[in-house]
Amino acid sequence: MSGKIELKTREQMRVMARAGVIVERALAAARAAAVPGATTREVDAAAAAVIADAGATSNFLGYHGFPATTCISVNEEIVHGIPGDRVLASGDVVSIDCGAIVDGWHGDSAISLIVGEALGGDDTKLVEQTRRSLWAGIAALASASRLDEVSAAIEDVTDAAGLYPLVGYVGHGIGTAMHQAPDVMNYRVRGRSPRVRAGLCIAIEPMTVLGTSDSEVLADDWTVVSADGSRGAHWEHSIAVHEDGIWVLTAADGGAAGLAPFGVTPTPLG
Ligand code: MG
Ligand code: MG
Repeated sequence: MSGKIELKTREQMRVMARAGVIVERALAAARAAAVPGATTREVDAAAAAVIADAGATSNFLGYHGFPATTCISVNEEIVHGIPGDRVLASGDVVSIDCGAIVDGWHGDSAISLIVGEALGGDDTKLVEQTRRSLWAGIAALASASRLDEVSAAIEDVTDAAGLYPLVGYVGHGIGTAMHQAPDVMNYRVRGRSPRVRAGLCIAIEPMTVLGTSDSEVLADDWTVVSADGSRGAHWEHSIAVHEDGIWVLTAADGGAAGLAPFGVTPTPLG
């Protein structure tokens, strides 16, 4: 997405953090509900209940007509899957993407998980290394002068793991809308990328596939599937860059646990 980058004040970031931790709790509830025999609609309902109980609203529901609170994408579905009657089975790789709005400010985050028992080592690698690429990208943001340093850090992890980045889908700025400038690429691209500076709030969201970078959109006009039927994963956090450091808005600890392996400490918004 092009256009002017909306820089946020510390106070606005604090409201975004309130939305963010509601998203984190909604995703935790969805994860707990994603058991063998559950439908994806039931998983969606678990997330929706948390958002409603918190007095927040969903930014996914009604977005360009999207009919649910979460995107739930199973196996060869990589992103934007619509919750419904599908029954989850042990070994399914499930990505759950969720967002919330508090006082007009947005949060956006996604997790991937394996239902029950993993079918094979590649699925575990897919989920874990995609997660690691997200945290590598967030860690890079802490000291980056331009966003391409984040993209490079993500690509280095996914490439070393032998995973393919989903081409054509990117992270984004976030604030008074869920999707804002700038684009946040998950791999290196030619050209100058935006400067990282205080006030920048972005959603970093690596999307990876086991066998290909190519995808198709199903007839429902939403679900993105891998072109070769291989499985994918998706992890996302919304992060604020402020004068004193970074803070992961969609994590109650600001990202402390996820960043620790990279030697990076998040700085509270104060
Ligand atoms: Mg998302
Ligand atoms: Mg997003």
